[in-house]
Amino acid sequence: MWLLEELKARKDSNHLAMIYRGKKITYRELWNESEKAAYWITQNSKTKNPVLIYGNKDIEILIVIVAALKTGRAYVPVDITFPVGRLQKIASITEAEILFNFSHIEIPEVMCERDIHIVDTEAFSGLLKNDCRQEIPENLWIGGGDNCYILFTTGSTGEPKGVQINKKNIINFVDWFSKYTELKKGMVALNQVSYSFDVSVIQLYIFLAKGITLFNIDKQMICDFGELFSALRDSEIAVWVSTPAFIEMCSAYDSFNNQMLPHLEKIILAGEVLTKKLVNTLWSRFEGVEIINGYGPTEGTVLLSCCTINQEMMQDKENELPIGTVLDDGIFWLESKGQKISEEKEKGELLISSKSISKGYFMNPEATKKNFFDFEGNNAYRTGDLVYRIGNLLYYCGRTDFQIKLNGYRIELDDISENINKIDFVNNNVVLPVYRDGRIVYIAAFIVLSKDLGLSVPRISILIRKKLAEWIPSYMVPKKIVILDVFPLNTNGKIDRNYLRETYL
Ligand code: AMP
Repeated sequence: MWLLEELKARKDSNHLAMIYRGKKITYRELWNESEKAAYWITQNSKTKNPVLIYGNKDIEILIVIVAALKTGRAYVPVDITFPVGRLQKIASITEAEILFNFSHIEIPEVMCERDIHIVDTEAFSGLLKNDCRQEIPENLWIGGGDNCYILFTTGSTGEPKGVQINKKNIINFVDWFSKYTELKKGMVALNQVSYSFDVSVIQLYIFLAKGITLFNIDKQMICDFGELFSALRDSEIAVWVSTPAFIEMCSAYDSFNNQMLPHLEKIILAGEVLTKKLVNTLWSRFEGVEIINGYGPTEGTVLLSCCTINQEMMQDKENELPIGTVLDDGIFWLESKGQKISEEKEKGELLISSKSISKGYFMNPEATKKNFFDFEGNNAYRTGDLVYRIGNLLYYCGRTDFQIKLNGYRIELDDISENINKIDFVNNNVVLPVYRDGRIVYIAAFIVLSKDLGLSVPRISILIRKKLAEWIPSYMVPKKIVILDVFPLNTNGKIDRNYLRETYL
C-alpha cells in the first residue's frame, strides 16, 4: 500500500481527509491543492534538496507533505517546539531551498540570507489560488530508494541528527503494521502526535491511505484541557494514537471516558514504556478497548515490534508489559559485552535488521557508522535499548546510554550538556534526569561558571534557560538549574553524580 497511489484513487472523493479547528479538507481538495503546491515547488527550486516544513498541526502541512512526495523531494517536518536556532541548523545541513513556515513564528533575516524561499501561511494560500491545471507526472513521484522524510532527532554531540527514511522503509512498515489497524469506512482517527515524531507516520501513511478522517489536536489545545476535551467530545474518534504520556495526562481527569469518546475501539501507544497501571485505567474508562503497545526508534521507521495487550500479560507477576514480537522481516539478536545472548530472560542490547531500517543519518557518516551496519544485504541497527526475550516476545528494560524519554520526547542528555557548555560564562555542567515513582519527571542541570557574573542564582538560571531556548527544543531545557562552585568528585576522581542526585534532587 503506497500513500500517493491510494490518494490518487480517492482524488474525486468528497470524504473528509482532515479536520482541524473547524477547518476541513476533503480527499479531492487534498489531491488538487497538493498538485498546485507540487507544481510551485518544481518551479521554485533548482535542486531536489529536502523541503522544510515548520509548524505544528495546520492542514497546510499535510498538503505540503503530499506535494513534496509528488515532486520526488523529501520533506523535513520541524515542530514549533524546535527553536529557530535549530531550524537554522537543519536548513544548513539539508541545504534546503524552500521553507514552508506555518508556525506563525518570524524567521530572522540571517536565515533569509541563505537564499531560501520562505513561504508563510498567507503566501501559501496565495499560491493555492493560482489556477494551475498542470498535472504532476507520476514519473516525478518519490521512487523506492528516495528519502520521503528526514526526521531530526537529538544527537549526543549537541547537533541534531537527520534520520533518512525512504519509500521502501515506509512500505515495509506499512505492510506489516496495517494488519494491526483494521479500519472501517467512515472512521475518525486522532492526529495529535507532532509530525517531527515518527509515530505520526501511522496516521499519514496507513490511516490516510485507507481513506479515513484525521482529527487534529495541536499544542495549544493540549495546554488547555477545557478546549482539548471539548474538541475530543466533538471528534467521534474511533482510533487513538499517542504516547503513553499524553493519554495518561488525559486520564488524570475522570471525565476522560467512554462518554467523551463513545466510538473509541482501538488505542495505539508507542514511544515509551507502557505500564500495567495505565492499561488498567484505560480499560476501566473504555471497556473492551483494544490496546496496542508499539516499540521502535525513528531509525527503524516508527515501530520494530508490537503486541496487543491481553489479560495474560497483565496478570504476569514476574514481567512488565512486553513490547511485542518483531516485524515480519525483522531478524534480531541480543548482545551483552560483545557476545550474542541466546538464553531467555537474559538482558542484552537489541540489534535488528529489516527493510524498515534507515540507511543512516543525513550527511553524517560518522554517526551512521556508529549505529548502522549491513546484515545479509539489509540495513541493520544497534538500538541502544536493553531488552530480554521470552519466547517470541520482547521486554524492554532501559538504555545502554544517556538517552532518555521525557513525556514521550527522545532526549540525549549530552545534547543538552554540549549546548550548556556553549554559553560563554559556563565552565562545565552535568545534566541529570529526575525520577519520581520510577518515571522521569524533569531534567536538572548542575553548572559551574567560568566567571563571577555578579548576579543572583535565579537571574543566572533565567539567563541560561533563555540562551538554551534559542538552540534546543523547549522540552529539552532543564527545569531545575543548580549553580555550584566546584563539582563533588567520587573516589575514582569522577564527578559524583550520586552525590548530586541525593543532595539536590
Ligand atoms: P524515538 O526515536 O523518539 O521513537 O525513540 C525511540 C526510543 O524510545 C527507543 O529506542 C526506546 O528507548 C524508546 N521506546 C520506544 N517505544 C517504546 C516502548 N513501547 N516501550 C519502551 N520504550 C520505548
